[in-house]
Amino acid sequence: MNKFYCANCGSEINDPRGVFMFRDNYLQIKFFDDNKSNRFCDETCACEALLGEFVERDEIPLDNDEDMDGDEDMDGKENTDADTV
Ligand SMILES: [Zn+2]
Repeated sequence: MNKFYCANCGSEINDPRGVFMFRDNYLQIKFFDDNKSNRFCDETCACEALLGEFVERDEIPLDNDEDMDGDEDMDGKENTDADTV
């Protein structure tokens, strides 16, 4: 049996069913240098490897065709971010 190691945390992947991989063709060709770098324990490790993470609303980058005429934020009543230094 082949031993497979997680490309993110480096630990041996013990799941007998297999490994977590990215199947997108572009990623496989352009991002991962080899097959070894596209093997992960699970979604969490895979996301960490690609810096996938939860981004808060006011830090989400917007495209030009996205309008910020949000309804609730216009009056700024519920701005709880004021105390963040
Ligand atoms: Zn891992």
